[in-house]
Amino acid sequence: MRVTVLGSGTAVPTPDRFPAGYLVEESGRRILIDLGPGVLRRLPQVGLGLEDIDAVLLTHYHTDHCADLAALLFGLCNPRYAARRELVVCGAQGLHELLAHLTAAWPWLARHEYPRRFEVIAPGHHRVAGFDVEAIAIEHTDASLGYRIRSEAGATAAFSGDAVACDALVPLARDAELFICDSAFPGAAPGPGHMTPTEAGRAAAAANARRLVLTHCYPECAGHDLIAEARAVYGGAIVLAEDLQQFELG
Ligand SMILES: [Zn+2]
Ligand SMILES: [Zn+2]
Repeated sequence: MRVTVLGSGTAVPTPDRFPAGYLVEESGRRILIDLGPGVLRRLPQVGLGLEDIDAVLLTHYHTDHCADLAALLFGLCNPRYAARRELVVCGAQGLHELLAHLTAAWPWLARHEYPRRFEVIAPGHHRVAGFDVEAIAIEHTDASLGYRIRSEAGATAAFSGDAVACDALVPLARDAELFICDSAFPGAAPGPGHMTPTEAGRAAAAANARRLVLTHCYPECAGHDLIAEARAVYGGAIVLAEDLQQFELG
């Protein structure tokens, strides 16, 4: 299983970090976790097109995590995608309302010749595009989900989405090979609704995750040694996420 960081940034634009987006792939099956604005542009940068995505898992409906859903649906109106395989879009409560509002603003998003499905998923285990996906409720918005994804080969990657430090992060990341965790603000300048590297490190340690990837970095992180902050509380491998970085698991 390969995990690619498509966007390690936030709602505040910076030159190097696109808003949230991650790609999980194995054996030609591909899931996007979140679709922040601009993230679709990252796909051709890793040699992929819109025809290559089987499923989208949204962690929550803040715009920096899902604005490109509209761009995806509009892009897929292009006749070149008419014969593509089914697209599945999953998220917490509010998904159908989001689609209804997007379609009210842009009626052409309702058009599709290829099969597609929007699925509200509850916390628990789901089968998505050949992966075992466990959705776990995370404290951030009223309906935020983290995703724990296991490949057929047994590799596990955990995605916190946006989060505050909460107990749910431990089962989310338990023994995971890769734990991609909100680390939006440095300890010296914490922000509401998000985690610091120390909190991410504590969650990774409690979960016994093997490798922690600090992500969703706001500009306030500049000049701070986020890895050192996490290192003080967590003994596993720590990586500061960069866009287009890839991790091979399993
Ligand atoms: Zn958010
Ligand atoms: Zn966010």
